[in-house]
Amino acid sequence: MSLKTRNAIITGSTSGIGLAIARAFAAEGANITINGFGEAAAIEAERAGIEADFGVACRYSPADMSKPAEIAGMVSEAEAAFGSVDIVVNNAGVQFVSPVEDFPLEKWDQIIAINLSSAFHAIRAAVPGMKARKWGRIINTASAHSLVASPFKSAYVAAKHGIAGLTKTVALEVATSGITVNCISPGYVWTPLVEKQIPDTMKARNLTKEQVINDVLLTAQPTKQFVTVEQVAALAVFLCSDAASQMTGANLSMDGGWTAA
Ligand code: NAD
Repeated sequence: MSLKTRNAIITGSTSGIGLAIARAFAAEGANITINGFGEAAAIEAERAGIEADFGVACRYSPADMSKPAEIAGMVSEAEAAFGSVDIVVNNAGVQFVSPVEDFPLEKWDQIIAINLSSAFHAIRAAVPGMKARKWGRIINTASAHSLVASPFKSAYVAAKHGIAGLTKTVALEVATSGITVNCISPGYVWTPLVEKQIPDTMKARNLTKEQVINDVLLTAQPTKQFVTVEQVAALAVFLCSDAASQMTGANLSMDGGWTAA
């Protein structure tokens, strides 16, 4: 139970990678604030399930990661409820696939807001408390697309490269305050986000579903296997441990060898 005294916020944790990180932190004894969209009953089932399965307190914040005031409110409400915010995982993310010349303006703005700017707003709100307590862990879910590009994902790749830069900058600023700031860069993880982009990629590249999975997605991944959400969550738990206290400003790949190529 390495996180027994810690309080964590995980954005975008009603599904996929974020939910797995929330459950892995709870298994280590942390109190949790989950966040994200979805059906109210399903979210409540996840929230109550975390409390029942791990004996921790779990809150739900409906804050919209495209709205700066709601992000600041999420952090201050978690501080008020649990007494501190020790760990922030900026994980919420969306995808849109389109040739750049057709890329809808509102999709560009939305992806930059949710996948990049939300991390800035959450970090800005959480750092003062972490500095005062001289301990903090900030983990940003980046992507292999923080290191390399793929066509038709201009906003996503720009946001993910941006979050890698934000990670390094803040790591330097808080280096003497007991706070580490890192990002995790998964390759393809089998989650609803990946599943949902298959139809658009089929259209953009004129391929069948099987061709998208084997020739587009797993082509990039030398191991020819998807990463699992539990593997990403295990790395996040490690980054919160004392053993990782000298890891900061790092961009940690978990991509089946994708970015080695
Ligand atoms: P997912 O679709 O399963 O989860 C995304 C989460 O973000 C959901 O909880 C959703 O409700 C939430 N969300 C979306 N818009 C939001 C908003 N405006 N405000 C608050 N919450 C919002 O996707 P996932 O695959 O688990 O993705 C999580 C993160 O991992 C993203 O940042 C994504 O870019 C990154 N990532 C995913 C993969 C992959 O292959 N799945 C690979 C690399 C990086």
